Amino acid sequence: MHSILGAVNKLIGGNKLSILIYHQVLEQFDPMRPYEVTADIFNWHMQLISKHFSPISLSEAADHIKNNTLPKRAICVTFDDGYLNNLTVAQPILAKYKIPATVYVATAFTEGADMWNDRVLDLFKDANLTSLIIENKSVLLGDWDNRNRLAEEQLMRLKYLSIEERLAGVQQLYDDNNLPDPTPRMMNAQQIKQLSETGVEIGGHTVNHPILKVLSKELQFEEINRCKAQLEGWTGKAVKHFAYPNGSYGKDLTDETVQLVKDAGYETAVVTDWGTSSYGDDLHRLKRFTPWDTSPLKFHARLLKSRL
Ligand SMILES: [Zn+2]
Repeated sequence: MHSILGAVNKLIGGNKLSILIYHQVLEQFDPMRPYEVTADIFNWHMQLISKHFSPISLSEAADHIKNNTLPKRAICVTFDDGYLNNLTVAQPILAKYKIPATVYVATAFTEGADMWNDRVLDLFKDANLTSLIIENKSVLLGDWDNRNRLAEEQLMRLKYLSIEERLAGVQQLYDDNNLPDPTPRMMNAQQIKQLSETGVEIGGHTVNHPILKVLSKELQFEEINRCKAQLEGWTGKAVKHFAYPNGSYGKDLTDETVQLVKDAGYETAVVTDWGTSSYGDDLHRLKRFTPWDTSPLKFHARLLKSRL
């Protein structure tokens, strides 16, 4: 069956670029993050890509899109946010299959404080903990389904607060339960440099991971330019690629945002809207695609379908 897909794949799909989005690559399955890929799943994703597609770096992809020279079945691998497991778990697998990749880093999370949503999820992950104090009430945690449901309630409650209120709300949950902060999940500056030295391209993803659309032009400028300068300082290399936080065109960013990213000197920028790219497309609004399937056959079929 798989070889049939391989044959179909050879017939279609010239001159189009697929860009995959990952966030974490977990060493082991995490019941509070059932949608994140594990090392095993990521390994067969990369094995399949190296066998059936032409993995290229985003810098190469940008040149090919400009010159109309995209190779058949061109594909880029990208990671958002700057998780430490991109260095410790994903990078060795990428190296094994010689697959180039880009990691977009939000620079405020390089000093030990995780992103707020990870901190909420991690409150519920200790299987030995049977209850938590949530908004002054003791709540039984129960099984993983229930823990995921409770975490989702907290994420929804905190999501619509201002950034300061949201961070205070997360800290309150930790304080009320006397829980220590989790071990940092994000790379620090030195680890980002280390990843860059393996050949993985480091891209910008703002400083604080805000929804750029709701910020003033001045604050957007600051978020877009400061992360570039910081990352260039840490890696000693030009930072040429950018990913818009949340990344849905129109909803999370506007044409003004796109212009600011161009003016900052980024060569490409990616959104999270699904699709492929080809000759003539705007290099500062490249579409992406989330490979979430759990079996190789489905993953391959989805990749092919996205290119039709
Ligand atoms: Zn992000």
